[in-house]
Amino acid sequence: MATSTTPVVKVLEPATEELLAELPQAQIEDVEEAIARAKGAFPAWRAVAPSDRAALLRRFAEAIEDRSEDLAKLETRNVGKPIADARDEMGMVVHLFHYMAAAPERLFGKTIPVAGGIDMTFREPLGVVGLITPWNFPLWLETTKVAPALAAGNTVVLKPAELTPLTALEVERIGRDAGLPEGVFNVVVGPGRTVGERMVVHPDVAKIAFTGSTEVGKRVGQLAAQSIKRVTLELGGKSANVIFADADLEQAALSAPSAVFGNAGQDCCARSRILVERPALDRFMEVFEKAVSALRVGDPLDEQTQMGPLISAGQRSTVASYLEDGAPIAFRGASPEGPGYWFAPTVLCPVSNDDRVAREEVFGPVAAVIPFDDEADAIRLANDTIYGLSGSIWTSDGGRALRVARAIDTGTLSINSNTSVRVNTPFGGFKQSGLGRELGPHALEYYTELKNVYMSTG
Ligand code: NAP
Repeated sequence: MATSTTPVVKVLEPATEELLAELPQAQIEDVEEAIARAKGAFPAWRAVAPSDRAALLRRFAEAIEDRSEDLAKLETRNVGKPIADARDEMGMVVHLFHYMAAAPERLFGKTIPVAGGIDMTFREPLGVVGLITPWNFPLWLETTKVAPALAAGNTVVLKPAELTPLTALEVERIGRDAGLPEGVFNVVVGPGRTVGERMVVHPDVAKIAFTGSTEVGKRVGQLAAQSIKRVTLELGGKSANVIFADADLEQAALSAPSAVFGNAGQDCCARSRILVERPALDRFMEVFEKAVSALRVGDPLDEQTQMGPLISAGQRSTVASYLEDGAPIAFRGASPEGPGYWFAPTVLCPVSNDDRVAREEVFGPVAAVIPFDDEADAIRLANDTIYGLSGSIWTSDGGRALRVARAIDTGTLSINSNTSVRVNTPFGGFKQSGLGRELGPHALEYYTELKNVYMSTG
């Protein structure tokens, strides 16, 4: 029970800077208890018949769907994201739970011909899985881990970002009401530095699935290595939107704002380096400017809003610092007055790929337009980064599209489109953007161990 001395987490509403909720902050003993509950629940949960586990996950998905409008509104208020985007995310959350509900009955092994007997493989659950997630797409990113982890027969302890814990707590309650057994799905709201690290080093946690910055991901990887703990890392990005002069420039320029300013630029897949072939630069910038000035920035609960505020005052100062390095501001979009962590969408041009704004993940609505000379130059620039998460290629030449797609070192690419994430296709980073894959059938490999059993028939 919270007392006057219990540390609290104050959850703010970024669009108003007002207090949205106040929660007790988890301490080390709380995370210890959550891990113990998950450990206690594991033997029974892994033994649940696959069809029953599948049915429970479907019930969980349906219960979330029934509450999805409330969850979308809560996410909107807590993150500041437009309500239309939050609704899309809730749709993906429900879809992913349903998709993973099919998994328990399809975790197939193999039989392998060997001398003197039969060799079989099985996919075994890992045990207690610790999940650590960021604030930009809270419930969606939590679901990318919770759904496959539970489907594969693991129990979980989830630590959402302290800035945005509200939908995770709500979904923990929904899971309990839908019939998830006690201890299978646990949420702890506490600081990464203490509670998160305790999960990473805890001997009873078999795996950590982490989404967050590359800097913290490195620390998580180092700590996890001490016990050879399984780890998947979904980290930062600095993706390229490569626009060739032969592309449908109108379409490329009209869709560029959502590719870089979606979620107010707080998106690991943001195409924040816009590489444009020189002959197309003027025309691209002309259409891009019109599209950016038409962006509706404002109250995230308004159905028409396309961009909300940043998550916090700290994030706003960080983003603002990138405008002080001297790269020319080509144009800026709208930004409301008054309370709220607003930041106008900003386009810098021309930017050198060596500038700080082109090398670091800004995580805010700042686009760096970088002109290039030819195909080889585009590939060189796209790859000249420590990251490799996402990206796009715009061209009307199909051969070139595939040639360039194969040459860019990145986990997800779209051609003549800016989408990155689908429930049923793999997602993850090359280079310092991460380790492992989420979504699609591949995700299950990262929540199971492969066991090999040989039986002699002699
Ligand atoms: P962050 O600072 O790395 O935090 C992510 C999570 O890690 C939070 O829950 C945080 O807890 C926790 N944490 C912090 N320090 C920790 C430590 N020493 N040990 C264990 N956990 C720790 O990232 P963020 O600012 O929340 O999110 C933005 C970053 O996430 C960006 O770099 C973005 O690119 C990346 N991201 C990647 C993907 C992807 O799929 N690749 C998707 C979304 C976001 P508290 O904050 O509560 O203390």
